[in-house]
Amino acid sequence: MKTARFSDSHATSTRGGIDWRDLAACRDRPDDFDLDVIRDNRARISAAVDSCRRCPVAHQCGDLTQRLVADRKAPKDLVQAGVIWSVEGKPAKRIRAGRPAREAAT
Ligand code: SF4
Repeated sequence: MKTARFSDSHATSTRGGIDWRDLAACRDRPDDFDLDVIRDNRARISAAVDSCRRCPVAHQCGDLTQRLVADRKAPKDLVQAGVIWSVEGKPAKRIRAGRPAREAAT
């Protein structure tokens, strides 16, 4: 998978000996969040975003994602922290079947 989501050095926080990443709803399901895989299936994209909304570590993931963006290492071409990220690493407003995610208007 192309994401730096869980390999970034910022993401090493543990609490009580448990790494929050072990509790992620996307753990062991990287393809379900990878736009290379789900791009042509709106239901799967919506399901990925919904998974993030229900994720028990959404707050930690959101913090990490904000740091990645600040460090110019934004997620690309995937769903992360409830956001669809374009191939350029920008929040995407929508995607069209067979095409990379379109960036949201700024
Ligand atoms: S919020 Fe989404 S991308 Fe982040 S850990 Fe949870 S399921 Fe994974």
